[in-house]
Amino acid sequence: MKAVKYHGVKNMELIDIPKPQINENEVLVKIMYCGICGTDIHAYSMEGMFDWELVPGHEAVGIVEEVGKNVDCVKPGDRVAVGPPGDCGNCYSCNTGHPNTCVNAFFNTLGIGPDTQGAYAEYIVSKFPKNELFLIPDGVSMEQAVLFDLVGVGFHAVRRSDMRLGDCVVVSGCGSVGLAVIQSAKLAGASTLIAFDPLASKRELALKSGADYVFDPNDPSSIEKAKGLLKQANGAQVCFEAAGNPYSIDTCISLCMPSGQIMLIGNDGRPYQLVTAALGPHQYDLKFTFTYTKEEITMLFDMIKTGKFDLSAYTTLKAPLEDAVSMLDKLAAGEIDAARVLLMPNLDLIK
Ligand SMILES: [Zn+2]
Ligand SMILES: [Zn+2]
Repeated sequence: MKAVKYHGVKNMELIDIPKPQINENEVLVKIMYCGICGTDIHAYSMEGMFDWELVPGHEAVGIVEEVGKNVDCVKPGDRVAVGPPGDCGNCYSCNTGHPNTCVNAFFNTLGIGPDTQGAYAEYIVSKFPKNELFLIPDGVSMEQAVLFDLVGVGFHAVRRSDMRLGDCVVVSGCGSVGLAVIQSAKLAGASTLIAFDPLASKRELALKSGADYVFDPNDPSSIEKAKGLLKQANGAQVCFEAAGNPYSIDTCISLCMPSGQIMLIGNDGRPYQLVTAALGPHQYDLKFTFTYTKEEITMLFDMIKTGKFDLSAYTTLKAPLEDAVSMLDKLAAGEIDAARVLLMPNLDLIK
């Protein structure tokens, strides 16, 4: 079967490998779509993500082709999402309600861990089907379901925050994660939702996703204008940082009300200087948030099915698996505007 192998930075190739065989506890899934995640783009273009060879692809959907005799959670023909979390179920984090910070997850996850064979391939083998496969309910299309990884991060950030019905919310950064935060915060009952992004096209999508006001952070008057909208509590109860840069953290701090919460979603390699004497007297609650849980994927599918979560702001670009490397080149160069490039390893599954 066809697969795309990662050997190192800017070193990936389409190869032919044997179609995998399953044992009695495993499931074979024929892949319909696999998203190219920011993690993959980072690994392809920069040192420091994967120091090992693998077939990437950790956010995919497909059709169950074959199940081992001990497997009862799925059956042939089922539509499933395949992907993270790769939580082990045994460590302290897993056993205390924090599976998304499982100490073993990164190395266990298909398409991320060393030598794993992810979904940049025609088929994947799920060794832990109860943990890795999520049934896609009727009413949710494969094109919608494959966005679970993208949307799950923002959804989890809102669930992890202390946001309550009626709160004012600021979202800094309107990429795919920021848009998911905006929509989740709207569903959770934000009274005033203010979003920041330097790109007019992203601000447009933010409005479409439920933001009430949008600002360009490069406009020097934007913070004062936003403060004018947040007069009552001297700021927003919760500010979400979803751009992953130090300036965006500053935007959140500038607009957070005293005793309010700043949710840090973005990851950035640059150090950020915290001046405690400036921040401490405001008693800000700074909280990090990372990925999402299995339970949240199921919740998201139900919200898509019942029409509450709208994915129309997420544009996708579909490409055959053979184009994976050229798509990664274009994504790394910032030449693709779509929220997700979806690879199609089996064109016979696409109607
Ligand atoms: Zn991902
Ligand atoms: Zn664990």
